[in-house]
Amino acid sequence: MQISSKLPNVGITIFTKMSKMALEYGAINLSQGFPDFDVAPDLIDRVHHYMKSGMNQYAPMPGVPALREAIANKTEQCYGYKPNVDTEITVTCGAIEAIHSSISALVSAGEEVIIMDPAYDAYQPIIELQGAKAVRVPLTSAYAINWQSVAEAVTPQTKMILINSPHNPSGAIISEEDLAALEEITAGTEILVLSDEVYEHIVFDGEMHQSVFKSEKLRKRCVVTASFGKTFHATGWRMGYLIAPEVLTTEIRKVHQFNTFTIHTPTQYALADYLQNPATYEAVAKMYQQKRDYFLKAMKPSKFKPIPSNGTYFQLMDYSAISDKGDIEFAEWLTKEVGVAAIPTSVFYADGRDNKVLRFCFAKHEDTLKAAAEKLCAL
Ligand code: GLN
Repeated sequence: MQISSKLPNVGITIFTKMSKMALEYGAINLSQGFPDFDVAPDLIDRVHHYMKSGMNQYAPMPGVPALREAIANKTEQCYGYKPNVDTEITVTCGAIEAIHSSISALVSAGEEVIIMDPAYDAYQPIIELQGAKAVRVPLTSAYAINWQSVAEAVTPQTKMILINSPHNPSGAIISEEDLAALEEITAGTEILVLSDEVYEHIVFDGEMHQSVFKSEKLRKRCVVTASFGKTFHATGWRMGYLIAPEVLTTEIRKVHQFNTFTIHTPTQYALADYLQNPATYEAVAKMYQQKRDYFLKAMKPSKFKPIPSNGTYFQLMDYSAISDKGDIEFAEWLTKEVGVAAIPTSVFYADGRDNKVLRFCFAKHEDTLKAAAEKLCAL
């Protein structure tokens, strides 16, 4: 049968590819972003508790009220804005469902969405599935947003601007000035903002995460997507959520209800309990900063050149002093011959630009990072 592909240029993701290769060659896997340490026993106990107490049927479509209430309180505590529990918060199957359902609900064929370049691999295909166009605006060499270029990319077809801070793959974070620039560009327009903030609690060196919620002006036009998988190192649980004004949420829920409908009930109750203690998410930045610093120190004798990471659990490394190979070829060679898997960053660029930079995930035990660094230092 001849199928005309809706995504002719999309294959399996680089994360699936590199994790599979790491497994095949027995390499230390610093490629796909997931922790190799476990979820807090307390949280696991809460899930078990709710499973045993009969919370095993469909949750309400937007999410269980206790979890939405806890999310509202957390948002207020972190960013000074309390979203409406009933009309603005929706629990989703990972942040990717939040992103997919939001773009599907809000972006139509022929419209344009501005995304940055490099960008997380999922954004463009999801936009294109709507028959819409992804307009990519290059980040600066320090992975900052060039607002002048964003302003120039706006056309009458621009429906949405998608930002991602802390940024995957670079680890760059936005500042208050970035929020002000975004306010200015969108003022007096109908442009929506999708702010992918899944690494909100992984920000380093005393910096603050600049959520769009901090801006009263942006809040009105923003969908924010968030991830319990990232914050509580439970990427396999697929627990995310989105927050958006009621007019947007109403439309997004129309898609969500026919997409995943509802999310795993006992885990929602467990997270609602767990969020009562802010220390659970406040401790995450320090834990990852220690890991980042440990990895950087262990890599110091190597020929890899680190590119500063202010957030996320990723560290970019320039390998141009080691090899002339293209980054995909180098990442494959590293996995097979050296025994460490990483992500080539060219895949995040529209034109596949090869800066000879790899992304390493440091969400790992120190022993894992040490073993990887030893191999990488030998190069
Ligand atoms: N977000 C993860 C990363 O950047 C990947 C998730 C996935 O494999 N789709 O590594």
